[in-house]
Amino acid sequence: MNPANYLKIKKKIPSNVNILAVSKGFTSQEIKTIQNLGQNDFGESKFQEAFEKQLILKDLKQINWHFIGRIQSNKIRKIVQNFKYIHSVDSFEKLQKISNIASDEKKNPLIMLQVKLIDDPSKGGFNPELLILKWREIQDLKNIRLTGLMTINPKGLSSKGNSELFKKCRALADSLQLPDCSMGMTGDWEEAIEAGSTWLRLGSLIFGDRS
Ligand SMILES: *Cc1c(COP(=O)(O)O)cnc(C)c1O
Repeated sequence: MNPANYLKIKKKIPSNVNILAVSKGFTSQEIKTIQNLGQNDFGESKFQEAFEKQLILKDLKQINWHFIGRIQSNKIRKIVQNFKYIHSVDSFEKLQKISNIASDEKKNPLIMLQVKLIDDPSKGGFNPELLILKWREIQDLKNIRLTGLMTINPKGLSSKGNSELFKKCRALADSLQLPDCSMGMTGDWEEAIEAGSTWLRLGSLIFGDRS
């Protein structure tokens, strides 16, 4: 990992777009190096891996941890206890469970709802029509702060294909009056900025290739 790389990337990204440094597959030492450069938001996709690093880095209170991986129901309590943001809430049932547990734990996680804007058997996410149908009920849930939508584009799309999906995500978020869109990764972050992303989830672009 080359720290200069992070600063170079940061320069290219408009200051109103947040960078989430996706540290899955990288060590707590590597997180520390990037944190030293002023990066405080880190994303992890597996609870156990993340928790081990959180323990090591527990004195770095400035770090905001974001959960971005598939949520297993039996891990929800631990995720709610240990993450400020959850980006990958992909069903109403899980959202309800997060709400109940958050109330139990006296937490108020910031939530982004994962949406599925195109058929992709490898990905979860709310169907947009269903999300709109359920919106009232979703807004009534306690102890969650709904802040945005999250989407992961399928691999192999053209630049134009990526742009179209990101714009759909932005339009849906706007129609629900949600400020945030968590979209754009190493391969498609430029299109995501153009479409109105507020959180880029960047792993290998910052840390290098995962071994
Ligand atoms: C791994 C991961 C990323 C980052 O991927 P890169 O291609 O390394 O930038 C972003 N979002 C999610 C949900 C991920 O699992």
